[in-house]
Amino acid sequence: MGTFDPFKKQIVETAQELVQKGYLMATGGNLSLRVPGQACFAITPSNYDYRKMAPEDVCVLDFELNLLEGRLKPSVEASMHGAVYRVRGDVNAIVHTHQVYTSALTLIKAPIPALFDEQARFLGRRVDIIPYAPSGTGLLKNAVARHVKNHNNAFMLQNHGALVFGHDMQRAVHNVEILEKCALAYLLAICSERKISRIPLAVREIAFAKLRGDQKKVEKGEEAKGGE
Ligand code: 13P
Ligand code: ZN
Repeated sequence: MGTFDPFKKQIVETAQELVQKGYLMATGGNLSLRVPGQACFAITPSNYDYRKMAPEDVCVLDFELNLLEGRLKPSVEASMHGAVYRVRGDVNAIVHTHQVYTSALTLIKAPIPALFDEQARFLGRRVDIIPYAPSGTGLLKNAVARHVKNHNNAFMLQNHGALVFGHDMQRAVHNVEILEKCALAYLLAICSERKISRIPLAVREIAFAKLRGDQKKVEKGEEAKGGE
């Protein structure tokens, strides 16, 4: 078994789980995992059917985007993933999707304020909209690299989709699910045209402090609890 095989296998299994759950559609979106201690990451190939994807189809790139392993073209968003790993030492897994309710909020440019405790605990203070830049461009990569410095774990890409992080792939998947639930609830609340209540600011800050605590542990190489 090669060094990168467990990472490739987890990417394929997760991609297929996300297809089954409806978060990934057709060939849209992409997933990656940092390879700890090796200055590289594994990422899905570009424009490739997730249902047919096998571990050997996954690409491994260094942070200069040189292909270390793989026979297919890497995702067009590889530079965006690489930029996040460079800026955010606490992030080991990235999921980009075109999930529908989150995408709808990007069309009306509605960032999600702190609506639920679990949202603040795992996604951060709010879910911001990163201004539009065409898919797969340096413009998008630069905009993402600027915004993710605020330590939040979920972002919306205007007229595009979702960008979600975790200290591991399982956490990133849970965060994708939390984000879509928040987006749907927020959309329904917006449609009601009634006043939308938020969680108390103090509660948001306590929850966010726990998330920051987890992130610092991951950066120091300690395991994050991520439980409460
Ligand atoms: P890739 O298939 O190249 O990963 O592109 C899909 C996508 O979502 C672009 O933003
Ligand atoms: Zn996309």
